[in-house]
Amino acid sequence: MSNQCNLIKDILPLYVEDMVSTDTKEFVNAHLEHCAECRAELERMRGPAKFVPDIDIDTDIVPLKRIKKDLFIRRLQTIFFTAIIACAVVMIVFGVLTSPKFFPYSDDLLNVVDNHSGEIIVTFDDRVTGYTCTKEFYEETEIYRINAWTTTWDIYFSNRGNQNVVIPFNDDSNIQIFFTQNNGSEDVLIYGERDNLPQAVITLPRQILLPYFLLAALALIVLSGLRLLLKNKKAIIVWIDRAILLPISYMAAQLCTKGINFTTYSSQRDFCIIVLVAILFYLALLTGKSIYQEKRADKSTERFKEWP
Ligand SMILES: [Zn+2]
Repeated sequence: MSNQCNLIKDILPLYVEDMVSTDTKEFVNAHLEHCAECRAELERMRGPAKFVPDIDIDTDIVPLKRIKKDLFIRRLQTIFFTAIIACAVVMIVFGVLTSPKFFPYSDDLLNVVDNHSGEIIVTFDDRVTGYTCTKEFYEETEIYRINAWTTTWDIYFSNRGNQNVVIPFNDDSNIQIFFTQNNGSEDVLIYGERDNLPQAVITLPRQILLPYFLLAALALIVLSGLRLLLKNKKAIIVWIDRAILLPISYMAAQLCTKGINFTTYSSQRDFCIIVLVAILFYLALLTGKSIYQEKRADKSTERFKEWP
């Protein structure tokens, strides 16, 4: 019995189940043509003897089960990988479609009414599908800041609503309501007296996305440096390789959701979407890497198979 016979016998369980590549099949066929011993082994596997208790049965079935399990895990990995990529794409599209487009101030955008029973009602035009209202105090004055937006999703897919804000108000208190334009222009006073105002206010975009991106870039540089320094310590390299995918995922998520635009008027929302996409990218990278490594391992096994 040659070395090749041993190899063939290892492959036969898969061959019988038709779970081998065309190349492997041809290789086995070629060997079977001139090897009676392996042919006999194949007959024994295919024959009814397979189904009756046999002393050899365990030694045949255990590797087969292991291989089947490996194949099953690989198939799962591929499905998982595809599903994650699909989720990430959906998430990115969702982020773009629901990104708020802020309205600049215009006379027909909103209507402010004091109903003289303790409420000020701001009614928006039908184009407006969402708003934010924040409250702060300046000395004795209550200052409200309102902005209004719509999204691509709302424009095409939803019934645009009649939005209004009700602000509680009693005549004893000083109140000022501003409309925040979120385009670099001055906030517009839509209700109240301007008298005790500090100065004109412009609401500026938040810049938090840039420091986070730079932090990720720094982490990437540090981890790459560590990887070079510790390239002989296999156990540590494994962990560095996993960690290095985190900043890569975050940076890729920023670029896919916001591009190189790091300014935002809705920082919490944008950051949440970037983090969610980054988590999906990270899982996809981990799975993709393990699929790739298995493929490479397969290639080296195939080279072994070509031995005479
Ligand atoms: Zn043989």
